[in-house]
Amino acid sequence: RIQFDHLTKQFGETVAVEDLTFDIEDSEFLVLVGPSGCGKSTTLRMLAGLETPTSGDLYIADEHMNYRVPQNRDIAMVFQDYALYPHMTIHENIRFGLEEEPGYTEAERDERVEDVAETLGIDDLLDRKPGELSGGQQQRVALGRAIVRDPEVFLMDEPLANLDAKLRTQMRTELQRLQEELDVTTVYVTHNQTEAMTMGDRIAVLNDGRLQQVGEPLELYHAPENQFVAGFIGEPM
Ligand code: ATP
Ligand code: MG
Repeated sequence: RIQFDHLTKQFGETVAVEDLTFDIEDSEFLVLVGPSGCGKSTTLRMLAGLETPTSGDLYIADEHMNYRVPQNRDIAMVFQDYALYPHMTIHENIRFGLEEEPGYTEAERDERVEDVAETLGIDDLLDRKPGELSGGQQQRVALGRAIVRDPEVFLMDEPLANLDAKLRTQMRTELQRLQEELDVTTVYVTHNQTEAMTMGDRIAVLNDGRLQQVGEPLELYHAPENQFVAGFIGEPM
């Protein structure tokens, strides 16, 4: 379980996230939505340990996380740009996700890479370089690198934004299947309403750094707590 307890992040005068309080349950797929600049990435970056909260508390599995370095968090993160290593093969790229992990033999590492590649349907591409892959295939490699060490929490920041509409729809389904299969607590950032409505167990709506409402997709759709949620969720899909 992830707990945000009055979590606030300021950059100088800018309050990026303000007084955020809610919980994310184990194995839940939580979608974080809101307009540009509302604090979505900052929230993920605090979870990942890439930003330190200004005030309030962050807990994962009841452990206080505010000051814990990224390497000591059991978290994987995938961004919009996949940032694969162009000179490495796909196998090496995925295996890089195990770099900081002790306790695997060489053979186990290779086996883990092959398992993950099979799950993602890219096991026939392991000897290629990223430049020889399509956008969707590269996205799968980035996912593979993130999940190869079986993280407790999986963070995704607009992971499908660079894909065309058809591939985006296909990857949505795949991501949901993967999340269920891995049984991993997931926080997924998007500003796409369709993605939020179809993928989330629950949706958290942010505006201007503040949580507007958190609930199941249909709950937000039928019983929005304010005008902002109504406008944001109610837009034609
Ligand atoms: P987008 O949908 O455009 O990615 P977002 O919801 O992810 O937006 P954040 O990146 O979390 O928004 O930014 C929230 C606010 O904090 C914005 O006003 C942004 O300008 C500000 N901000 C974010 N990072 C920094 C930083 N390192 N220094 C100063 N201000 C920042
Ligand atoms: Mg962002």
